[in-house]
Amino acid sequence: MFTATGNDWAQRAAVLRLRTRMFIDGEWVDGSAEPLSPISPRDGRELPSISAASAQDVDHAVRSARRSFESGVWSGLAPRERGQLLIAFAQKIHDEAEELALTISLEMGKPIREALQTELRAVVNCFRWYGEAADKALDEVPVTAPGSLALVTREAAGVVAAVVPWNFPLTMTAWKLAPALAVGNSVVLKPAEHTTFSALRLAELAHEAGIPAGVLNVTPGTGQIAGRALGEHPDVDVVTFTGSPEVGRKFLGYSAASNGKRVWPELGGKTASLVMPDADLERAVRATADGCFYNQGQMCTASSRLLVPRAQRDRALEIAADVARTSLPSDPFSISTGMGAIVSERQLQSISGFVERAQEQGGELAAGTAERFTAVDGGSYFAPVVLGVTPAHEIAQREVFGPVLSVIGYDDVEDALAIANGTEFGLAAALWSNDLTTVHTLSRRLRAGIVWVNCFEEGDMTVPFGGVKGSGFGRDKSLHAMEKFTDLKTTWIALS
Ligand code: NAD
Repeated sequence: MFTATGNDWAQRAAVLRLRTRMFIDGEWVDGSAEPLSPISPRDGRELPSISAASAQDVDHAVRSARRSFESGVWSGLAPRERGQLLIAFAQKIHDEAEELALTISLEMGKPIREALQTELRAVVNCFRWYGEAADKALDEVPVTAPGSLALVTREAAGVVAAVVPWNFPLTMTAWKLAPALAVGNSVVLKPAEHTTFSALRLAELAHEAGIPAGVLNVTPGTGQIAGRALGEHPDVDVVTFTGSPEVGRKFLGYSAASNGKRVWPELGGKTASLVMPDADLERAVRATADGCFYNQGQMCTASSRLLVPRAQRDRALEIAADVARTSLPSDPFSISTGMGAIVSERQLQSISGFVERAQEQGGELAAGTAERFTAVDGGSYFAPVVLGVTPAHEIAQREVFGPVLSVIGYDDVEDALAIANGTEFGLAAALWSNDLTTVHTLSRRLRAGIVWVNCFEEGDMTVPFGGVKGSGFGRDKSLHAMEKFTDLKTTWIALS
């Protein structure tokens, strides 16, 4: 089912029916802000314009979510019933997976194969998993004095706003929506400007699956208007956000200036892949380069820093350059394509600027250039770049969000750890070694929410995903994510 076949994806995209209006209270409605004008990065083609939400429209959506929450039409269902509806929703997504994958590929340039095999598979799995988990949570009865009974119960927080990025548009959305809905909240979703069509279709499928009107609303629009209005809204109880560190901190500010709502930020990263002298260099470097170039490098966990013993640096550069030269972008609609388009011209210019400045600062270019790459005429493409740099270079510190690998030589283990921990971020790290003691000691000392040992990008719905330091403190996935969307209530009952 999740295997992309055929070579007619471009023809299918040409007749794809794209939803272009806001989805509030189970209905398609027009927004009153200036419409969005999306462009497909595959070929620069203009896509249909999309209705965008103003602050008043956001208020309308929040009121609809609040109404549905208070009515109990969703929050009042038995958890098992909610779970069954989420599983029905997962099945709908499964049935429409090809259309959704194509929509993502069209709007943000991800290869159709990856959109289907990786993204849609993950989305279906996520809704199914939380659907199955919905009735597995237990409340607590602490041991108190004989004359009283205390109950500790978890209650849905109320109205949740989910504000998400474009790089894994439906995966990020599922990671927010599934746990929030499973515990009984109503949600307002603000998709990223580049990936609104897929979000709108998702909401429609939720509705068709039987999730009641008002429980899932979508307010497309700009971050400045629609995102901000959600952040500042006095009747939103929780904001779950994935995106850039700058905007994540804005949400903390919106909360402070409005109702002190809970904000769960999941922000950027600058993953270090730390190769110990005893590791298999070739294997570690190839996995790191693949992890850096995957999704055109537009990944918060992209392994963008490769740390190798100084004596192995030149060899590491050669191996990484070889991976770069064999990972060139191609048409996202071709099923053999592994690397697609960069989401937008603006993002492409930003990546190119990073590479130019790295060279000006003395970075050694081992593969690629700062120039754009042509895969499909009119599209936004960038071939992978490998650079030999020092930890102080801008490119070794800031998130590029593009296929650019920085290779850094280290002197000894302490130096390697200092470099690995020496950025503002702390999302993920990778460690390559066959020595048990090294693996355990170093993984404890890496300041990151996720550490991969002798692997990269392993993941499962059972384990949390999120970071520390500047990468934020939200956690998606696993049963823990459900806690973010509930409040603990203590009820004392006097028995005598
Ligand atoms: P972004 O922060 O620009 O946008 C994210 C969302 O916030 C979008 O929906 C956008 O419209 C909205 N937004 C933008 N400005 C806003 C404002 N002033 N007020 C309210 N909302 C606003 O990020 P992006 O470019 O879409 O995504 C890339 C970033 O996301 C990278 O930094 C990446 O590392 C991060 N990311 C993190 C994770 C993670 O799980 N930690 C996963 C994927 C992406």
